[in-house]
Amino acid sequence: MANRERTNGQTPRDGARWDYSPAPEARNIVKIKPRYGLFINGEFVEPKSGQYFTTINPANEEVLAEVAYAGPEDVDRAVRAAREAYEKIWSKLPGKERAKYLFRIARIIQERSREFAVLESLDGGKPIRESRDVDIPLASAHFFYHAGWADKLEYAFHGRRPRPLGVAGQIIPWNFPLLMAAWKIAPALACGNTVVLKPAETTPLTALLLCEVFQQAELPPGVVNIITGDGQTGAWLVQHPDLDKIAFTGSTEVGKKIQKAVAGTRKRLTLELGGKAANVIFEDAAIDQAIEGIVNGIYFNQGHVCCAGSRLLVEESIYEVVVRKLKRRIELLRVGDPLDKNTDVGAINSLMQLRKIEHLVQVGVQEGAEIHQSSCPLPERGYWFRPTFFTRVSMAHTIAREEIFGPVLAVLTFRTPEEAAEIANNTRYGLSAGVWTNKGSKYLAFASRLKAGVVWCNTYNKFDPASPFGGYKESGFGREGGIHGLSAYVASGEW
Ligand code: NAP
Ligand code: MG
Repeated sequence: MANRERTNGQTPRDGARWDYSPAPEARNIVKIKPRYGLFINGEFVEPKSGQYFTTINPANEEVLAEVAYAGPEDVDRAVRAAREAYEKIWSKLPGKERAKYLFRIARIIQERSREFAVLESLDGGKPIRESRDVDIPLASAHFFYHAGWADKLEYAFHGRRPRPLGVAGQIIPWNFPLLMAAWKIAPALACGNTVVLKPAETTPLTALLLCEVFQQAELPPGVVNIITGDGQTGAWLVQHPDLDKIAFTGSTEVGKKIQKAVAGTRKRLTLELGGKAANVIFEDAAIDQAIEGIVNGIYFNQGHVCCAGSRLLVEESIYEVVVRKLKRRIELLRVGDPLDKNTDVGAINSLMQLRKIEHLVQVGVQEGAEIHQSSCPLPERGYWFRPTFFTRVSMAHTIAREEIFGPVLAVLTFRTPEEAAEIANNTRYGLSAGVWTNKGSKYLAFASRLKAGVVWCNTYNKFDPASPFGGYKESGFGREGGIHGLSAYVASGEW
Protein backbone atom coordinates (compact mmCIF):
# COMPACT_ATOMS: atom_id res chain seq x y z
CA MET A 1 0.00 0.00 0.00
CA ALA A 2 1.29 3.47 -0.86
CA ASN A 3 2.05 5.58 2.17
CA ARG A 4 1.10 9.17 2.60
CA GLU A 5 4.46 10.25 3.89
CA ARG A 6 7.86 9.13 2.64
CA THR A 7 10.47 9.00 5.37
CA ASN A 8 13.71 8.56 3.39
CA GLY A 9 15.10 6.24 6.01
CA GLN A 10 14.55 8.71 8.85
CA THR A 11 12.22 8.51 11.79
CA PRO A 12 8.80 9.65 10.60
CA ARG A 13 7.32 12.84 12.01
CA ASP A 14 4.66 12.50 14.66
CA GLY A 15 1.53 11.12 13.01
CA ALA A 16 3.30 9.84 9.88
CA ARG A 17 3.48 6.21 8.81
CA TRP A 18 6.66 4.19 8.39
CA ASP A 19 7.24 3.35 4.78
CA TYR A 20 7.08 -0.45 4.84
CA SER A 21 7.80 -2.56 1.80
CA PRO A 22 4.95 -4.85 0.78
CA ALA A 23 5.16 -8.21 2.58
CA PRO A 24 2.49 -10.38 1.01
CA GLU A 25 1.96 -13.93 2.21
CA ALA A 26 2.27 -16.34 -0.74
CA ARG A 27 -1.14 -17.06 -2.15
CA ASN A 28 -0.18 -20.11 -4.15
CA ILE A 29 -0.12 -22.34 -1.06
CA VAL A 30 -3.90 -22.54 -1.50
CA LYS A 31 -5.48 -24.52 -4.31
CA ILE A 32 -9.01 -23.27 -4.67
CA LYS A 33 -11.21 -25.53 -6.78
CA PRO A 34 -13.41 -23.85 -9.37
CA ARG A 35 -16.49 -25.54 -7.90
CA TYR A 36 -17.41 -27.15 -4.56
CA GLY A 37 -20.15 -29.67 -3.87
CA LEU A 38 -21.89 -30.30 -0.55
CA PHE A 39 -20.01 -32.43 1.97
CA ILE A 40 -22.44 -35.21 2.83
CA ASN A 41 -21.64 -38.67 4.16
CA GLY A 42 -17.90 -38.16 3.85
CA GLU A 43 -17.77 -36.97 0.26
CA PHE A 44 -18.41 -33.95 -1.91
CA VAL A 45 -21.68 -34.40 -3.81
CA GLU A 46 -23.63 -32.41 -6.38
CA PRO A 47 -26.57 -30.55 -4.84
CA LYS A 48 -30.03 -31.93 -5.64
CA SER A 49 -31.10 -28.30 -5.99
CA GLY A 50 -28.84 -28.08 -9.07
CA GLN A 51 -27.85 -24.56 -7.98
CA TYR A 52 -24.50 -22.94 -7.23
CA PHE A 53 -23.52 -19.48 -5.98
CA THR A 54 -20.20 -17.66 -6.01
CA THR A 55 -17.98 -16.54 -3.16
CA ILE A 56 -15.70 -13.57 -3.72
CA ASN A 57 -12.61 -11.99 -2.24
CA PRO A 58 -13.98 -8.79 -0.66
CA ALA A 59 -10.56 -7.09 -0.98
CA ASN A 60 -10.77 -7.02 -4.80
CA GLU A 61 -14.20 -8.47 -5.72
CA GLU A 62 -12.52 -11.37 -7.55
CA VAL A 63 -14.69 -14.52 -7.81
CA LEU A 64 -12.90 -17.29 -5.90
CA ALA A 65 -15.16 -20.30 -6.50
CA GLU A 66 -18.64 -21.59 -7.16
CA VAL A 67 -20.25 -23.25 -4.18
CA ALA A 68 -23.23 -25.62 -4.07
CA TYR A 69 -26.54 -24.27 -2.84
CA ALA A 70 -28.28 -26.68 -0.48
CA GLY A 71 -32.04 -26.85 -0.98
CA PRO A 72 -34.52 -28.64 1.33
CA GLU A 73 -33.81 -32.07 -0.19
CA ASP A 74 -30.08 -31.55 0.35
CA VAL A 75 -30.66 -30.51 3.96
CA ASP A 76 -32.67 -33.66 4.45
CA ARG A 77 -29.96 -35.81 2.87
CA ALA A 78 -27.35 -34.31 5.21
CA VAL A 79 -29.50 -34.81 8.32
CA ARG A 80 -30.17 -38.43 7.32
CA ALA A 81 -26.44 -39.05 6.88
CA ALA A 82 -25.75 -37.53 10.29
CA ARG A 83 -28.51 -39.62 11.91
CA GLU A 84 -27.20 -42.84 10.41
CA ALA A 85 -23.63 -42.05 11.44
CA TYR A 86 -24.88 -41.25 14.95
CA GLU A 87 -26.85 -44.46 15.38
CA LYS A 88 -24.48 -46.86 13.69
CA ILE A 89 -21.04 -45.50 14.50
CA TRP A 90 -20.36 -42.39 16.50
CA SER A 91 -22.62 -42.88 19.52
CA LYS A 92 -21.23 -46.41 19.88
CA LEU A 93 -17.56 -45.44 19.80
CA PRO A 94 -15.82 -45.25 23.18
CA GLY A 95 -14.66 -41.73 24.13
CA LYS A 96 -11.01 -42.66 23.71
CA GLU A 97 -11.66 -43.56 20.07
CA ARG A 98 -13.53 -40.30 19.40
CA ALA A 99 -10.61 -38.47 21.01
CA LYS A 100 -8.18 -39.94 18.47
CA TYR A 101 -10.13 -38.41 15.58
CA LEU A 102 -10.28 -35.02 17.28
CA PHE A 103 -6.54 -35.11 17.94
CA ARG A 104 -5.91 -35.97 14.31
CA ILE A 105 -8.09 -33.12 13.09
CA ALA A 106 -6.30 -30.69 15.42
CA ARG A 107 -2.89 -31.86 14.19
CA ILE A 108 -3.81 -31.64 10.52
CA ILE A 109 -5.16 -28.08 10.99
CA GLN A 110 -1.81 -27.21 12.58
CA GLU A 111 0.11 -28.81 9.73
CA ARG A 112 -1.99 -27.01 7.12
CA SER A 113 -2.27 -23.76 9.09
CA ARG A 114 -0.70 -21.49 6.44
CA GLU A 115 -3.08 -22.81 3.85
CA PHE A 116 -6.04 -22.21 6.15
CA ALA A 117 -4.84 -18.71 7.08
CA VAL A 118 -4.39 -17.59 3.48
CA LEU A 119 -7.75 -19.02 2.47
CA GLU A 120 -9.50 -17.35 5.43
CA SER A 121 -8.03 -13.98 4.47
CA LEU A 122 -8.89 -14.43 0.80
CA ASP A 123 -12.50 -15.41 1.36
CA GLY A 124 -13.35 -13.09 4.25
CA GLY A 125 -11.01 -10.08 3.95
CA LYS A 126 -9.39 -10.27 7.40
CA PRO A 127 -5.68 -9.45 7.74
CA ILE A 128 -3.36 -12.44 7.47
CA ARG A 129 -1.87 -11.45 10.83
CA GLU A 130 -5.25 -12.15 12.44
CA SER A 131 -6.05 -15.35 10.57
CA ARG A 132 -2.49 -16.67 11.01
CA ASP A 133 -2.02 -15.71 14.68
CA VAL A 134 -5.55 -15.88 16.06
CA ASP A 135 -8.20 -17.73 14.03
CA ILE A 136 -6.31 -20.81 12.89
CA PRO A 137 -4.28 -21.54 16.07
CA LEU A 138 -7.42 -21.12 18.18
CA ALA A 139 -9.41 -23.42 15.87
CA SER A 140 -6.77 -26.10 16.24
CA ALA A 141 -6.56 -25.49 20.01
CA HIS A 142 -10.31 -26.03 20.24
CA PHE A 143 -10.04 -29.50 18.69
CA PHE A 144 -7.08 -30.36 20.95
CA TYR A 145 -8.94 -29.21 24.05
CA HIS A 146 -12.06 -31.22 23.24
CA ALA A 147 -10.03 -34.27 22.26
CA GLY A 148 -8.84 -34.19 25.86
CA TRP A 149 -12.40 -34.28 27.19
CA ALA A 150 -13.82 -36.98 24.91
CA ASP A 151 -12.74 -39.88 27.16
CA LYS A 152 -13.14 -37.98 30.45
CA LEU A 153 -16.71 -36.76 30.28
CA GLU A 154 -17.68 -38.46 33.53
CA TYR A 155 -15.13 -36.22 35.25
CA ALA A 156 -16.64 -33.12 33.62
CA PHE A 157 -20.09 -34.04 34.97
CA HIS A 158 -19.57 -35.56 38.39
CA GLY A 159 -21.99 -38.27 39.39
CA ARG A 160 -23.55 -38.33 35.97
CA ARG A 161 -23.23 -40.66 33.02
CA PRO A 162 -23.22 -38.20 30.15
CA ARG A 163 -25.13 -39.23 27.04
CA PRO A 164 -24.95 -37.42 23.69
CA LEU A 165 -28.00 -35.55 22.40
CA GLY A 166 -28.00 -36.98 18.88
CA VAL A 167 -27.78 -34.89 15.70
CA ALA A 168 -26.88 -31.19 15.97
CA GLY A 169 -27.73 -28.56 13.34
CA GLN A 170 -25.18 -25.76 13.55
CA ILE A 171 -25.24 -22.36 11.84
CA ILE A 172 -22.30 -19.95 11.89
CA PRO A 173 -21.51 -16.37 10.77
CA TRP A 174 -18.84 -14.92 8.48
CA ASN A 175 -16.58 -13.12 10.92
CA PHE A 176 -14.58 -16.14 12.23
CA PRO A 177 -15.48 -18.82 9.69
CA LEU A 178 -13.08 -21.62 10.67
CA LEU A 179 -12.96 -20.73 14.35
CA MET A 180 -16.76 -20.75 14.67
CA ALA A 181 -16.87 -24.10 12.87
CA ALA A 182 -14.34 -25.45 15.41
CA TRP A 183 -16.29 -23.99 18.34
CA LYS A 184 -19.37 -25.83 17.13
CA ILE A 185 -18.01 -29.13 15.82
CA ALA A 186 -15.36 -30.01 18.44
CA PRO A 187 -17.58 -30.13 21.57
CA ALA A 188 -20.41 -31.83 19.64
CA LEU A 189 -18.11 -34.63 18.47
CA ALA A 190 -16.32 -34.95 21.80
CA CYS A 191 -19.66 -35.66 23.47
CA GLY A 192 -20.70 -38.24 20.85
CA ASN A 193 -23.05 -36.19 18.67
CA THR A 194 -23.02 -35.92 14.89
CA VAL A 195 -23.33 -32.66 12.99
CA VAL A 196 -24.81 -30.82 10.04
CA LEU A 197 -23.15 -27.40 9.79
CA LYS A 198 -24.01 -24.45 7.59
CA PRO A 199 -21.30 -21.82 7.09
CA ALA A 200 -22.13 -18.24 6.10
CA GLU A 201 -22.82 -17.49 2.46
CA THR A 202 -19.85 -15.12 2.03
CA THR A 203 -17.21 -17.31 3.73
CA PRO A 204 -17.73 -21.02 2.99
CA LEU A 205 -14.23 -21.93 1.81
CA THR A 206 -12.36 -22.76 5.03
CA ALA A 207 -15.26 -24.94 6.22
CA LEU A 208 -14.96 -26.80 2.89
CA LEU A 209 -11.20 -27.14 3.36
CA LEU A 210 -11.96 -28.53 6.81
CA CYS A 211 -13.95 -31.28 5.03
CA GLU A 212 -10.71 -32.32 3.32
CA VAL A 213 -9.15 -32.50 6.78
CA PHE A 214 -11.97 -34.79 7.93
CA GLN A 215 -11.25 -37.05 4.95
CA GLN A 216 -7.53 -36.98 5.71
CA ALA A 217 -8.26 -37.85 9.36
CA GLU A 218 -10.53 -40.69 8.14
CA LEU A 219 -13.40 -39.41 10.23
CA PRO A 220 -16.25 -41.89 9.67
CA PRO A 221 -18.60 -40.69 6.88
CA GLY A 222 -21.64 -38.72 8.05
CA VAL A 223 -20.23 -37.68 11.42
CA VAL A 224 -19.82 -34.12 10.10
CA ASN A 225 -21.76 -32.86 7.08
CA ILE A 226 -21.24 -29.36 5.71
CA ILE A 227 -23.96 -27.79 3.63
CA THR A 228 -23.43 -24.42 1.98
CA GLY A 229 -26.18 -22.00 1.10
CA ASP A 230 -27.83 -18.82 2.33
CA GLY A 231 -30.15 -17.80 5.15
CA GLN A 232 -32.97 -19.87 3.65
CA THR A 233 -30.76 -22.99 3.81
CA GLY A 234 -30.21 -22.16 7.49
CA ALA A 235 -33.97 -21.83 8.01
CA TRP A 236 -34.59 -25.23 6.36
CA LEU A 237 -31.98 -26.78 8.62
CA VAL A 238 -33.58 -25.28 11.75
CA GLN A 239 -37.00 -26.61 10.66
CA HIS A 240 -35.81 -30.16 10.01
CA PRO A 241 -37.78 -32.43 12.35
CA ASP A 242 -34.98 -34.94 12.98
CA LEU A 243 -32.54 -32.67 14.82
CA ASP A 244 -31.96 -32.86 18.57
CA LYS A 245 -30.06 -29.64 18.95
CA ILE A 246 -29.61 -26.30 17.21
CA ALA A 247 -26.53 -24.19 17.86
CA PHE A 248 -26.50 -20.76 16.27
CA THR A 249 -24.01 -17.90 16.19
CA GLY A 250 -25.05 -14.76 14.38
CA SER A 251 -27.25 -11.72 14.66
CA THR A 252 -29.82 -11.19 17.40
CA GLU A 253 -32.47 -10.67 14.71
CA VAL A 254 -31.96 -14.13 13.17
CA GLY A 255 -31.46 -15.65 16.66
CA LYS A 256 -34.97 -14.52 17.61
CA LYS A 257 -36.43 -16.12 14.48
CA ILE A 258 -34.67 -19.39 15.29
CA GLN A 259 -35.90 -19.32 18.87
CA LYS A 260 -39.47 -18.97 17.60
CA ALA A 261 -39.00 -21.79 15.06
CA VAL A 262 -37.64 -24.14 17.73
CA ALA A 263 -40.23 -23.29 20.42
CA GLY A 264 -42.38 -26.28 21.33
CA THR A 265 -40.08 -28.85 19.70
CA ARG A 266 -37.69 -31.29 21.38
CA LYS A 267 -34.69 -29.43 19.94
CA ARG A 268 -32.26 -28.00 22.46
CA LEU A 269 -31.01 -24.52 21.57
CA THR A 270 -27.97 -22.35 22.23
CA LEU A 271 -27.66 -18.84 20.78
CA GLU A 272 -24.53 -16.71 20.55
CA LEU A 273 -25.67 -13.33 19.30
CA GLY A 274 -24.64 -9.70 18.96
CA GLY A 275 -22.91 -7.28 21.31
CA LYS A 276 -22.22 -3.62 22.07
CA ALA A 277 -19.37 -3.97 24.52
CA ALA A 278 -18.04 -1.19 26.74
CA ASN A 279 -14.30 -0.76 27.08
CA VAL A 280 -13.91 1.27 30.31
CA ILE A 281 -10.73 3.22 30.93
CA PHE A 282 -10.06 4.68 34.39
CA GLU A 283 -7.65 7.56 35.02
CA ASP A 284 -5.15 5.31 36.80
CA ALA A 285 -4.77 3.01 33.74
CA ALA A 286 -1.56 2.65 31.72
CA ILE A 287 -2.90 4.82 28.92
CA ASP A 288 -0.67 3.74 26.02
CA GLN A 289 -1.35 0.10 26.82
CA ALA A 290 -5.07 0.86 27.00
CA ILE A 291 -4.98 2.60 23.60
CA GLU A 292 -3.43 -0.54 22.08
CA GLY A 293 -6.15 -2.66 23.67
CA ILE A 294 -8.86 -0.33 22.40
CA VAL A 295 -7.42 -0.42 18.88
CA ASN A 296 -7.16 -4.21 19.02
CA GLY A 297 -10.71 -4.39 20.36
CA ILE A 298 -12.35 -2.46 17.52
CA TYR A 299 -10.08 -1.99 14.49
CA PHE A 300 -7.88 -5.07 13.97
CA ASN A 301 -10.68 -7.21 12.58
CA GLN A 302 -12.52 -4.32 10.88
CA GLY A 303 -14.78 -4.39 13.95
CA HIS A 304 -16.24 -7.68 12.67
CA VAL A 305 -16.18 -9.14 16.16
CA CYS A 306 -19.28 -9.89 18.20
CA CYS A 307 -17.43 -8.89 21.38
CA ALA A 308 -15.77 -5.80 19.81
CA GLY A 309 -15.18 -2.96 22.28
CA SER A 310 -17.41 -0.65 20.26
CA ARG A 311 -18.17 1.79 23.10
CA LEU A 312 -15.22 3.45 24.80
CA LEU A 313 -16.02 4.83 28.25
CA VAL A 314 -13.32 7.27 29.38
CA GLU A 315 -12.98 8.83 32.84
CA GLU A 316 -13.50 12.55 32.32
CA SER A 317 -10.12 13.60 33.77
CA ILE A 318 -8.20 11.76 31.01
CA TYR A 319 -10.63 12.34 28.17
CA GLU A 320 -8.48 14.81 26.25
CA VAL A 321 -5.28 12.79 26.37
CA VAL A 322 -7.09 9.59 25.35
CA VAL A 323 -8.78 11.25 22.37
CA ARG A 324 -5.48 12.85 21.27
CA LYS A 325 -3.63 9.52 21.43
CA LEU A 326 -6.46 7.68 19.72
CA LYS A 327 -6.48 10.16 16.82
CA ARG A 328 -2.76 9.68 16.37
CA ARG A 329 -3.00 5.90 16.63
CA ILE A 330 -5.72 5.49 13.99
CA GLU A 331 -3.63 7.56 11.56
CA LEU A 332 -0.91 4.93 11.93
CA LEU A 333 -3.15 1.96 11.15
CA ARG A 334 -2.45 0.32 7.82
CA VAL A 335 -5.59 -0.40 5.84
CA GLY A 336 -5.23 -2.57 2.75
CA ASP A 337 -4.29 -5.94 1.25
CA PRO A 338 -5.37 -8.60 3.77
CA LEU A 339 -2.54 -10.87 2.60
CA ASP A 340 0.12 -8.27 3.50
CA LYS A 341 1.71 -9.16 6.84
CA ASN A 342 1.90 -5.45 7.78
CA THR A 343 -1.82 -4.84 7.31
CA ASP A 344 -3.74 -3.89 10.45
CA VAL A 345 -7.21 -3.41 8.98
CA GLY A 346 -8.46 -5.55 6.10
CA ALA A 347 -11.52 -5.45 3.85
CA ILE A 348 -15.13 -5.24 4.98
CA ASN A 349 -16.61 -8.71 4.51
CA SER A 350 -19.35 -7.87 2.01
CA LEU A 351 -20.94 -4.98 0.16
CA MET A 352 -24.06 -5.42 2.29
CA GLN A 353 -22.03 -5.05 5.49
CA LEU A 354 -20.20 -2.02 4.06
CA ARG A 355 -23.54 -0.33 3.28
CA LYS A 356 -24.77 -1.05 6.81
CA ILE A 357 -21.64 0.54 8.33
CA GLU A 358 -21.88 3.57 6.02
CA HIS A 359 -25.53 4.04 6.91
CA LEU A 360 -24.99 3.89 10.67
CA VAL A 361 -22.01 6.28 10.45
CA GLN A 362 -24.18 8.71 8.50
CA VAL A 363 -26.85 8.45 11.21
CA GLY A 364 -24.15 9.26 13.79
CA VAL A 365 -23.23 12.44 11.93
CA GLN A 366 -26.87 13.41 11.43
CA GLU A 367 -27.58 12.94 15.14
CA GLY A 368 -24.81 15.44 15.95
CA ALA A 369 -21.86 13.29 17.08
CA GLU A 370 -18.41 14.48 16.02
CA ILE A 371 -16.66 12.15 13.56
CA HIS A 372 -12.89 11.42 13.45
CA GLN A 373 -11.50 9.28 10.66
CA SER A 374 -8.10 8.10 9.54
CA SER A 375 -6.99 9.89 6.37
CA CYS A 376 -5.36 6.70 5.00
CA PRO A 377 -5.69 5.94 1.29
CA LEU A 378 -8.06 3.11 0.41
CA PRO A 379 -7.63 0.57 -2.41
CA GLU A 380 -9.79 1.29 -5.44
CA ARG A 381 -11.49 -2.08 -5.73
CA GLY A 382 -13.09 -4.04 -2.93
CA TYR A 383 -15.00 -3.02 0.20
CA TRP A 384 -13.21 -0.69 2.59
CA PHE A 385 -13.96 1.56 5.52
CA ARG A 386 -11.59 3.92 7.31
CA PRO A 387 -10.94 3.44 11.03
CA THR A 388 -13.42 5.85 12.59
CA PHE A 389 -14.45 7.12 16.01
CA PHE A 390 -17.10 9.47 17.29
CA THR A 391 -16.90 11.93 20.18
CA ARG A 392 -19.73 14.02 21.70
CA VAL A 393 -21.74 10.83 21.98
CA SER A 394 -24.39 10.02 24.57
CA MET A 395 -26.36 6.81 25.08
CA ALA A 396 -29.25 8.50 23.24
CA HIS A 397 -27.28 8.23 19.99
CA THR A 398 -28.04 5.33 17.64
CA ILE A 399 -24.30 4.64 17.22
CA ALA A 400 -24.02 4.04 20.98
CA ARG A 401 -26.88 1.53 20.98
CA GLU A 402 -26.84 -0.38 17.69
CA GLU A 403 -24.26 -2.99 16.81
CA ILE A 404 -22.35 -1.51 13.81
CA PHE A 405 -20.04 -4.50 13.25
CA GLY A 406 -17.45 -2.28 11.58
CA PRO A 407 -14.31 -0.29 12.54
CA VAL A 408 -16.33 2.40 14.29
CA LEU A 409 -15.97 3.39 17.94
CA ALA A 410 -18.28 5.61 20.03
CA VAL A 411 -16.46 7.52 22.80
CA LEU A 412 -18.41 8.45 25.96
CA THR A 413 -17.25 9.88 29.29
CA PHE A 414 -18.01 9.15 32.96
CA ARG A 415 -17.10 10.64 36.35
CA THR A 416 -17.56 7.77 38.84
CA PRO A 417 -17.39 3.96 38.68
CA GLU A 418 -21.14 3.92 39.44
CA GLU A 419 -21.84 6.03 36.38
CA ALA A 420 -19.47 3.91 34.26
CA ALA A 421 -21.25 0.70 35.29
CA GLU A 422 -24.63 2.26 34.58
CA ILE A 423 -23.59 3.30 31.05
CA ALA A 424 -21.83 -0.01 30.36
CA ASN A 425 -24.97 -1.97 31.34
CA ASN A 426 -27.31 0.40 29.51
CA THR A 427 -27.61 -1.84 26.46
CA ARG A 428 -29.83 -4.68 25.29
CA TYR A 429 -26.68 -6.76 24.83
CA GLY A 430 -24.27 -8.27 27.36
CA LEU A 431 -21.55 -10.28 25.65
CA SER A 432 -18.30 -8.73 26.83
CA ALA A 433 -16.55 -5.72 28.40
CA GLY A 434 -13.05 -4.41 29.07
CA VAL A 435 -11.68 -2.59 32.11
CA TRP A 436 -8.42 -0.66 32.22
CA THR A 437 -7.02 0.23 35.65
CA ASN A 438 -3.84 -0.21 37.65
CA LYS A 439 -5.73 -1.30 40.75
CA GLY A 440 -6.73 -4.95 41.08
CA SER A 441 -9.32 -4.27 43.76
CA LYS A 442 -10.98 -1.61 41.61
CA TYR A 443 -11.13 -4.03 38.70
CA LEU A 444 -12.67 -6.82 40.78
CA ALA A 445 -15.26 -4.54 42.35
CA PHE A 446 -16.13 -2.97 39.02
CA ALA A 447 -16.22 -6.17 36.95
CA SER A 448 -18.72 -7.74 39.34
CA ARG A 449 -21.19 -4.96 38.51
CA LEU A 450 -21.03 -5.55 34.76
CA LYS A 451 -23.70 -7.66 33.09
CA ALA A 452 -21.45 -9.20 30.47
CA GLY A 453 -20.43 -12.80 29.79
CA VAL A 454 -16.71 -11.97 29.56
CA VAL A 455 -14.86 -9.10 31.26
CA TRP A 456 -11.23 -8.56 30.27
CA CYS A 457 -8.89 -6.57 32.48
CA ASN A 458 -5.99 -4.62 30.94
CA THR A 459 -6.32 -6.66 27.77
CA TYR A 460 -8.98 -7.35 25.16
CA ASN A 461 -10.20 -10.09 22.81
CA LYS A 462 -8.31 -12.91 24.51
CA PHE A 463 -9.70 -16.39 24.03
CA ASP A 464 -8.96 -19.83 25.39
CA PRO A 465 -10.84 -23.05 24.68
CA ALA A 466 -10.98 -23.78 28.43
CA SER A 467 -12.77 -20.52 29.14
CA PRO A 468 -16.52 -20.34 28.58
CA PHE A 469 -17.79 -17.62 26.25
CA GLY A 470 -21.35 -16.38 25.86
CA GLY A 471 -23.80 -13.62 26.62
CA TYR A 472 -26.40 -12.03 28.86
CA LYS A 473 -29.70 -10.54 27.70
CA GLU A 474 -30.04 -10.23 23.90
CA SER A 475 -26.49 -11.50 23.37
CA GLY A 476 -27.96 -14.98 23.72
CA PHE A 477 -27.77 -17.96 26.06
CA GLY A 478 -25.57 -20.99 26.49
CA ARG A 479 -21.79 -20.99 26.65
CA GLU A 480 -19.10 -22.22 24.28
CA GLY A 481 -15.76 -23.43 25.60
CA GLY A 482 -14.83 -25.08 28.89
CA ILE A 483 -17.09 -27.48 30.78
CA HIS A 484 -20.01 -25.09 30.29
CA GLY A 485 -19.65 -25.49 26.54
CA LEU A 486 -19.62 -29.30 26.81
CA SER A 487 -22.82 -29.30 28.82
CA ALA A 488 -24.67 -27.91 25.78
CA TYR A 489 -24.01 -31.23 23.99
CA VAL A 490 -24.93 -33.81 26.62
CA ALA A 491 -28.40 -34.95 27.63
CA SER A 492 -29.57 -33.75 31.00
CA GLY A 493 -31.28 -36.03 33.43
CA GLU A 494 -28.83 -38.88 33.91
CA TRP A 495 -27.28 -37.75 37.19
P1 NAP B 1 -26.65 -13.49 10.52
O1 NAP B 1 -27.17 -12.73 9.37
O2 NAP B 1 -27.54 -13.72 11.68
O3 NAP B 1 -26.16 -14.88 9.92
C1 NAP B 1 -25.59 -15.89 10.70
C2 NAP B 1 -25.83 -17.23 10.02
O4 NAP B 1 -27.22 -17.52 10.00
C3 NAP B 1 -25.37 -17.27 8.58
O5 NAP B 1 -24.89 -18.56 8.28
C4 NAP B 1 -26.66 -16.99 7.84
O6 NAP B 1 -26.63 -17.43 6.51
C5 NAP B 1 -27.66 -17.75 8.67
N1 NAP B 1 -29.04 -17.29 8.56
C6 NAP B 1 -29.53 -16.13 8.07
N2 NAP B 1 -30.87 -16.10 8.18
C7 NAP B 1 -31.24 -17.27 8.73
C8 NAP B 1 -32.51 -17.83 9.11
N3 NAP B 1 -33.66 -17.18 8.94
N4 NAP B 1 -32.53 -19.06 9.68
C9 NAP B 1 -31.37 -19.74 9.89
N5 NAP B 1 -30.16 -19.25 9.55
C10 NAP B 1 -30.08 -18.03 8.99
O7 NAP B 1 -25.35 -12.86 11.12
P2 NAP B 1 -24.06 -12.41 10.33
O8 NAP B 1 -24.35 -11.09 9.74
O9 NAP B 1 -23.58 -13.50 9.46
O10 NAP B 1 -22.99 -12.30 11.50
C11 NAP B 1 -22.86 -11.18 12.27
C12 NAP B 1 -23.57 -11.33 13.61
O11 NAP B 1 -23.07 -12.45 14.32
C13 NAP B 1 -23.32 -10.15 14.51
O12 NAP B 1 -24.52 -9.72 15.09
C14 NAP B 1 -22.38 -10.69 15.57
O13 NAP B 1 -22.41 -10.02 16.78
C15 NAP B 1 -22.81 -12.09 15.67
N6 NAP B 1 -21.75 -12.95 16.21
C16 NAP B 1 -21.89 -13.41 17.49
C17 NAP B 1 -20.91 -14.21 18.06
C18 NAP B 1 -21.06 -14.72 19.45
O14 NAP B 1 -20.32 -15.63 19.82
N7 NAP B 1 -21.95 -14.20 20.25
C19 NAP B 1 -19.78 -14.56 17.30
C20 NAP B 1 -19.67 -14.07 16.00
C21 NAP B 1 -20.68 -13.27 15.48
P3 NAP B 1 -26.08 -16.47 5.35
O15 NAP B 1 -24.76 -15.95 5.74
O16 NAP B 1 -25.97 -17.38 4.23
O17 NAP B 1 -27.10 -15.38 5.22
MG1 MG C 1 -16.07 -14.65 0.27
